Parts: sequence; structure tokens; C-alpha cells
Amino acid sequence: MAKKDLVELSVVKEFLNSKAGEHACELVRICNSKKIVNDEFIAGKLGLKITEVRAILNRLHYHGVAYYDKKHDSRSGWYSYTWKINSKRIAELILGQQAEEVQKLESKRDFEKNYSFFSCRKNCDNFQFEIAAEYGFRCPQCGDMMNSVDSKKRMNLVNNKIKNIREEIDVLEKFCKAV
Ligand SMILES: [Zn+2]
Repeated sequence: MAKKDLVELSVVKEFLNSKAGEHACELVRICNSKKIVNDEFIAGKLGLKITEVRAILNRLHYHGVAYYDKKHDSRSGWYSYTWKINSKRIAELILGQQAEEVQKLESKRDFEKNYSFFSCRKNCDNFQFEIAAEYGFRCPQCGDMMNSVDSKKRMNLVNNKIKNIREEIDVLEKFCKAV
């Protein structure tokens, strides 16, 4: 997978969104599209104010996703900044998150394997047998009868989630090895 394609993965889009807001993906695309990109160019492309662009860049920089070259212009006396994206860093950060998520889901799955749960038809909440019994098998929220929840269905849901994340991990790991 090429660097510019990384940002098209939905897991990457979600990540950038959560870390630096709704314009982050487009900003990364713009930075990847040219060798030399400054904040004015990005602002023009995104139709945002320079201060807004800098705020996004600063958030990405904080996570090590964006970095800059600083050059002194001897004529104007100003410093100019050109921005680049560390695509491998994006993949690595997501891999860290995914590893945690898989661990959480696995322990959830192992926990649920050993217990039976009870819930009403509306699925207000799930309770272990002892707690459901204390409530007389009536949902404390809606008052409906609670029955044992099909644990196989729940287990399958969790297993599918784990499988999907593992597939994403696989793609990201291959990307990291290739860059
Ligand atoms: Zn209920």
C-alpha cells in the first residue's frame, strides 16, 4: 500500500478525525500531494483560516503525525515552515490502540464464556445470574421479565469484532514493514 492510500482506510480516517478534527484527513492528503507544503497553501485548499490550519497541524504534531522544516528567509527575515506527514507513525499509533482493543475484547469474551447473563427484551442492561435473581428476574429499568441471553450470539459478535480488528492490524503491519 502506498503512503497516500493509508489515509483512505476507514480506521485511519476515524483515527485522524478523533485526534485532529474533521479536516485532518483532507489536510493529510494535501500534505502528501506535494513535496513542499506550507500552512498558507493548506489553508487555501481547505478554505480555512491559517490559524485554523495551524491548530490542526499542532494537534497532529503533538501526536508525532505531522512534522515541519523551518527555514529562515534572509530577505524577509521571517521563518517559513513546510509540513510533512509521518505516515508510519499514524499506522504505529493505531496499531497500539488496536492491540489494546483486542485485549479488552478477548478478556470480555473469556469473562462472558464463564457466566450466563440475563436481560429484558429491550436489552436495557445485562446482569449476571445472582444479580438478576436479586431483582426477581424483572428488569430494574422497564420492569419486564428478564431471560437468559443467548451467549453464543454475544460471543459471535465479539469474535467478529476481534476478527475485523485483526484484519486491520494485518494491513497496518504490512504497511509499517514496507515504508
Ligand atoms: Zn428493561
